Amino acid sequence: MKQRILTGDRPTGPLHIGHYVGSLRNRVRLQHEYETYILIADVQALTDNFEHPQKVRDNVLEVALDYLAVGLEPEHATFVIQSMIPEIAELTVFYLNLVTVSHLNQNPTVKSEIQQKGYGSAIPAGFFVYPVSQAADITAFGAHLVPVGDDQLPMIEQTAEIVRRFNRLYAPVLVEPKALLSEVSRLPGLDGKAKMSKSLGNAIFLSDPADVVAQKVRGMYTDPNHLRVEDPGQVEGNPVFAYLDAFDPDKERVQGLKDHYRRGGLGDVKVKRHLLEVLEATLGPIRERRAEFARNMDFVEHTVQQGTARGREVAAATMAAVRAAMRLDYFAQPVLPPAVRDEG
Ligand code: ATP
Ligand code: MG
Repeated sequence: MKQRILTGDRPTGPLHIGHYVGSLRNRVRLQHEYETYILIADVQALTDNFEHPQKVRDNVLEVALDYLAVGLEPEHATFVIQSMIPEIAELTVFYLNLVTVSHLNQNPTVKSEIQQKGYGSAIPAGFFVYPVSQAADITAFGAHLVPVGDDQLPMIEQTAEIVRRFNRLYAPVLVEPKALLSEVSRLPGLDGKAKMSKSLGNAIFLSDPADVVAQKVRGMYTDPNHLRVEDPGQVEGNPVFAYLDAFDPDKERVQGLKDHYRRGGLGDVKVKRHLLEVLEATLGPIRERRAEFARNMDFVEHTVQQGTARGREVAAATMAAVRAAMRLDYFAQPVLPPAVRDEG
């Protein structure tokens, strides 16, 4: 039997090139090797967008389009809408007993998001506990592997802790997952900020038209002290070079550009022109495929609907095992394989 992958995205906006190098690229690569489930995490999106349900709704199919555009194949990768899997909510409630508030308080990703969002002391409880609901996502699908960016490592660790606690307390029914990081586990934003993010307005989207990408690249943050072409420039913390590292297949060429930039004599305009070419080599075909699928939204919708139905079956099987382990299997028939049941 194939091992499983579960990963996903919040439908808070279209997917960007950070998703691509951080997670999507790995998903596409592994979809034939693993039974792959991809969660469109609308429930999690609502934890910090509960006042904007239409925004979340509108982005569900956009994200599905992005999946198809990058080359995820619905026969191999199952797209699932999170809110249509009530088992995830159920698991979340049970898992909340297995974590402490003080431990949740230490989650570095949630901490920095709370700061970013300016919640102060008014943190929505649903947002605060979203790492627990992520544990429910992952375990509902019995995932062994979770391809994510490094901001998600605390979530996978939290999940593993819940799994160990659950299995020890009740019965060993949950799978302990591992994170799979790509070599670029965090792409910085156009503004040079540590992380490109849908919510920070510093992203190149997979769905951006070519002229928009060009404009964004031209406006990118670089080394602010690199004023004249002759000046030596700084490569570290310079997102232009971070993107080249992530997208230019010719590593030697990138090294050459870095050396030249450090020495001085290489202008930002020139490096950016090269970056644009490199980006377009990846984004061009994605954009074309996206436009093709966008002409057939019925297919996209059907794909998500079918995937969600399949996902529900998997989550229901996990739920049955969890209920039995927790002595909550009231009135349940003994869980036997169908063949045995038929004979009886
Ligand atoms: P939001 O701002 O709404 O949180 P996001 O841009 O952070 O959106 P998510 O949907 O939260 O995107 O993340 C989906 C997946 O993409 C996660 O595995 C995350 O680690 C990965 N990811 C997101 N941004 C980046 C990035 N800049 N570099 C690498 N991976 C990323
Ligand atoms: Mg995020």
